Amino acid sequence: MPQRPKLVLVGQLSVFPWVFEAAKRAGIDLILVPRGDDSAESAGRADAVVELLPLDIDEDPEGALSALADRYRREPFDGIMAGNERVVPFVARAAHELGLTGLTEEAAAVVRDKRSMRHRLLEAGLGLPGFVAIEDPDGWTDALALRFPVVVKPANGHSSLGVIRVDDKDCLEQAVARTWKLIETHHLGVADGPTPETGVLVEEYLDGPEVAAESLVHHGQVRVCGISWKGELAGPYFEETMFRAPAQLPTEILTAIEAEVIGAHHAFGITEGTTHTELRLVGGVRPVLLEMAARLGGGGFTHHLVHFSTGIDLAAEALRIHLGREPLCWREEPALVGHVAVYEVPVGSGGRMKQVHGLDSVRNDPQVDYVVQTVSPGELLLPYPDFSGYPAIVVSRHESDAAAVAYRAHLARTLHVEYEEQG
Ligand code: ADP
Ligand code: CA
Repeated sequence: MPQRPKLVLVGQLSVFPWVFEAAKRAGIDLILVPRGDDSAESAGRADAVVELLPLDIDEDPEGALSALADRYRREPFDGIMAGNERVVPFVARAAHELGLTGLTEEAAAVVRDKRSMRHRLLEAGLGLPGFVAIEDPDGWTDALALRFPVVVKPANGHSSLGVIRVDDKDCLEQAVARTWKLIETHHLGVADGPTPETGVLVEEYLDGPEVAAESLVHHGQVRVCGISWKGELAGPYFEETMFRAPAQLPTEILTAIEAEVIGAHHAFGITEGTTHTELRLVGGVRPVLLEMAARLGGGGFTHHLVHFSTGIDLAAEALRIHLGREPLCWREEPALVGHVAVYEVPVGSGGRMKQVHGLDSVRNDPQVDYVVQTVSPGELLLPYPDFSGYPAIVVSRHESDAAAVAYRAHLARTLHVEYEEQG
C-alpha cells in the first residue's frame, strides 16, 4: 500500500476544525506545529494530527527552521502549509529550503505587507484607493493630502486590529497615534526578519459593500472558487460580523471581481496555494481590492463557505496543492449546491468574558454545522479597534440567501456576550 502523504501544518489553531477535517477526508496525515496560544492537549486531539512539532517561530525563526530541517532529515514529509497570517513568510522560506511546494519568499513578503500590495496593484494598473505609507508616528501629516474619509491601519495587521476610519482631518493625528500604539502592543510586524518592519498605512475610504473571494492557485493558474458577501461595514471600527455564500450579485459584477482577484495574484506573484481576498464594491459595482491573505481565511471557515456553496473541498484542495499535486477540482465545472452563512458574535463593550448567551439552542439547531468558541470564560476580550479573539463563530446552511439573512437576524437577536462586572 502506498504511504499516506504527510504535511506540516504550521500554526493552525486546533479549535478551528475545518483543515483538520479536510485532511482526514483526503487521507493526509498532519504534523502540527501548534500556535503559541494553543493547548497541547487540544492540538494533539485534532483530526488527522499524527505528531506535534512545537517550534518557536516568532522568537527564534532560525532555530525553528533548523529544527524543521532536522525533522525533515530524520523522515522527510511531503508538504508544508501555513495555518495563520503571521507564519506565511516562515512557511515560504521553509518550503523553499526543503524543496517543497509553496509561495516564493518574495510573494510571501508582498502579501504580509499592505504597503507592498498597494504598490504592486498600482504597477499592475489594477484598482486601488489613494494611499500614504507612514514610517513613524510624526509622519501623519503626509496623509492630509488624501481625500477624506480615510482609513488608518497597521501595514502588517490582521483581524481589523487597529483599523480606524477617520472622517475629519482634525482627528487624523490621534488615530495614527492610536494605531501605532496597538502595533507596538501587539508586536505587529513582518515576522521572520532581523528587524520586524512596522508601519501605518492611511488610505482613502472605499465606499460600498464588502465581499470576499476564496481562490486556489496551482502552477500559476488561479481559480476563484467562491465569492461571499460581507455586507456594509461603515466603521469607525471594522468588526467582521458575517459572511454569506454565494454572494447574490449580477454576473457582470462577479466576473469583474474574479478579474480583479486573478490580476492581483499575478501582481503579487502568487503561484501556489490558497488565498483569501477581500474587496469593496465601490458604489455597489466596482470591485477594488482591500487585501489578500495567502492562506485559508477565517481560521478555515472560508473552506466551509466554499465547500457547501460550490461543492469544492477547498481545504483539502489547498492541502493537495501544498503536497505538489493537482487539485481534484481542476478539471471540473463548479456547481451551486447551497447557501452557507457564518456569523461572528460581536465583542461589544469587551471585558472579562462570563459566557455567550444563547449558544446552547444554536448548537442544537439542525441548520447549524459548527459553533466554535476560541475564548474561554474568565478571559479578557478586547473591544475594537483592539482585538484579542472572536467570542463565538456560528456556521450554518440554508435553502436560500433570504433564509440565511433571516437566520442572521435571529442570531443577532438571541446571541450576546455577558461580561463579568467591572470591579
Ligand atoms: P486586516 O488585515 O486588519 O483585516 P484590512 O485591510 O482587511 O486589514 O481592513 C480591515 C477592514 O477595514 C476591511 O475589511 C474593511 O471593512 C475596512 N477597510 C480597510 N481599508 C479600507 C478602505 N480603504 N476603505 C474602506 N474600508 C476599509
Ligand atoms: Ca482583512
